[in-house]
Order: sequence, then structure tokens, then C-alpha cells
Amino acid sequence: MPLPNKKGYFGAFGGKFMPETLFPCLHELDSFYDKARKDNAFKKEFQFYLKNYAGRPTILYFAKNLSKHLGMKIYLKREDLLHTGAHKINNSLGQALLAHSMGKKRIIAETGAGQHGVSAATVARLFNLKCDVYMGEEDIARQRMNVFRMKILGANVIAVKSGSKTLKDACNEAMRDWVTNVRNTYYLIGSTFGPHPYPMIVRDFQSVIGKEARAQILREKNRLPHFLLACVGGGSNSMGLFAPFFKDRKVKFIGVEAGGMNKNLNSASISYGAVGVLHGAKTYVLQDRFGQVKATHSIAAGLDYPGVGPEHSFYKNSKRSEYVAVKDKEALEGFKMLSELEGIIPALESAHAIYYLKKLAKRARNALVVVCLSGRGDKDLEIVQQCTDDHR
Ligand SMILES: *Cc1c(COP(=O)(O)O)cnc(C)c1O
Repeated sequence: MPLPNKKGYFGAFGGKFMPETLFPCLHELDSFYDKARKDNAFKKEFQFYLKNYAGRPTILYFAKNLSKHLGMKIYLKREDLLHTGAHKINNSLGQALLAHSMGKKRIIAETGAGQHGVSAATVARLFNLKCDVYMGEEDIARQRMNVFRMKILGANVIAVKSGSKTLKDACNEAMRDWVTNVRNTYYLIGSTFGPHPYPMIVRDFQSVIGKEARAQILREKNRLPHFLLACVGGGSNSMGLFAPFFKDRKVKFIGVEAGGMNKNLNSASISYGAVGVLHGAKTYVLQDRFGQVKATHSIAAGLDYPGVGPEHSFYKNSKRSEYVAVKDKEALEGFKMLSELEGIIPALESAHAIYYLKKLAKRARNALVVVCLSGRGDKDLEIVQQCTDDHR
């Protein structure tokens, strides 16, 4: 996996565009992480929790019916089977261990739909850390169940009333808190975004997905896949799958972004955005003609973010990966297709990647494909029901 340069850049993207008051925090994190990633005891402890708490390794499942239906050989990396129902727990466990080793007693996190908030609240209980989660007021109203889950887990949910009262504003508030309380506080970021070294740290913790998948497909098929496919929000499940295959030049990567309603209302930062700076990193950002961050939308709350991890921007510009956009309606079709053919109900985020298989099948008949099934769909049943009712 490529390391970012000393300034925290992947090619032309990344960096740390932060107020100077945050530099000591970032520097402390950087030096602790540098030690941790070479420390066998740290790695062993991380492996222990991935296995015994989260439920790794996840299986690589040959989706026989879906494969037959589309005329490809499709394997699903089943991150939906993990504790808490999605890949986010991999990263939360890693960062909680890091916080613990840094002697921090309190973690803070930003959350949009509440999925990352729940996973942060979960590891906070496991390691007995105080946990405050920043969440936009809009999102709190939309995602009551996850707010309740976080409260059961003993987390304090702080309502953010600024800006659009959604994820990007929650990020801003979490960073403000971090500057003020850095002595005892660790900021547990939920995806491969933010200032260096976060994108690298989150990618490294999520790369367990790709490392396992690579070994599993080699064992099963004695060859590497033609394609890797994953949905892209901030970019962590996709980067976790892709990065360990970085040097396997014949393996093509496809990142599937949230195409939302149309070209104007979506969360597809690479497909429809332009280079800018968001939350401390230079990357593709959805912006209006004045360069202001644009309002976003996706049926999948976990993809509803106006930026993307800088390493993806680097993959895009160096053509290492291709990026496509799948609309809300199409994701619903993917959701239905996997449920009906395989008896597996995917998260709406993952359903974006599932739907794209249908398009890929037209240009890559019989291809061997590994798709990241980033999460399970239980959390989305209400939304899907509403959408289905609307169509009647
Ligand atoms: C949060 C989430 C995503 C999107 O986040 P990435 O960092 O892009 O992986 C995708 N799928 C599920 C199930 C999620 O909860």
C-alpha cells in the first residue's frame, strides 16, 4: 500500500489544511501511530479484537444465483456479518486501541446517519472510554433509532445546530472540541477522510478486508479477480478492499458513488465534484459555482458526504481506479436483487455496488468479481418500505 509523503500527500491530494492550533494534535497522533504500526504487541491486540469481538475473518461468499443471473462469477466479501453490522467496527477497534495506548480517556466522533457513532459508542464501552458523538440536528431527527442505540451504549449525543445541521457540520464541531480538549481526548474519525494521518490510519485498519479477500480468492480460485467493486462514501470500505491489491496491476478497481436523484443532487464527489479542500484535505469536493460546499443527497445515509478520501482522488487522477455513480432508484433495485436472489439483505450503501454489477456484466461477461458487502440492510428497512409504498 502506498505511503503518503512526509507532508501527508497521496500524489496531489491530502495534506493537513488545519488551523495551527491543531498541529500539535496531529503531530502527536502521527508519532504514536508510527510506533503502533510497527509494534507487534499492538498488532496482536488488534488482531485479537478483530477476531474475538468483531467476528473476523469474514467469509468470501460465492453468490451462485446472482452469478448465474448476471453471467459473471461474483464473490461477496461479507462485512455485513460483523458485530454491529458493518465494516466500520474494524476502524473503530483500531483507533480505540490507539487512543488507549496514547492514554486518552475520552473519545469523540462525528456521525451522519449514526452508523459510525454507534460503532464508536460500542468500542468506548469495550475499552471503558467516555464517548461524545457529534451529530447534526437534522440527522438526529431522521435517525432516532441510532441515537437511541448510542444512548443505550452510554454515549452522549451532542446536537449540532450550525450550517446544514448534518455530517459536515458535525465534523467541524468535533474538530473544534478536539483542539480544546486534546490532552485527554482522541478524535475517532469514521472514514478515510480528514487531515493526514487519518486517511492513512483508517485505510490501514480497514485493509484487513482486502488482505483477507486476496488470500481467500487465491485459495479458492488460484487466481486474482478481474474486478474489485465497492461503494464509496468517505471511502473506507472501498479503500480497505482495494489497497492490498494496489500492486496487482491487472486487478481493476471500481468505486461506486451515490448518484442520488440526478447530476445536481447527489453525493458523488469524484464523478460530479471538483478539486477543493474539505475537512483538512485536498480532494474532490461537491461545490457550487462559488466554490462553496454543495448540499448533498443519497438514499443511503452512509454515502451522504460532499467529499471523499484523498487517496481515492489520487487513484482517480492516476487512473488506478474507475469511479461510477449509481442513482437512488438503481440502488433500490440492487437491494431487491440481492435479497431475492441470495437471501441476503444488503445495506443501501452496499446496494449501490451490487446494482453496478448489472452494468458491469454487459461489458465483462464471465468476469471474476469481488464485491465488498459493507453492511447489512436491517437499518434501512423503513426507508425501503417508504420508497416502495411511494411507487404504488
Ligand atoms: C458508513 C458506511 C459506508 C460508507 O462509508 P465508507 O467510508 O465509504 O466505507 C458504506 N457502507 C456502510 C454499510 C456504511 O455503514
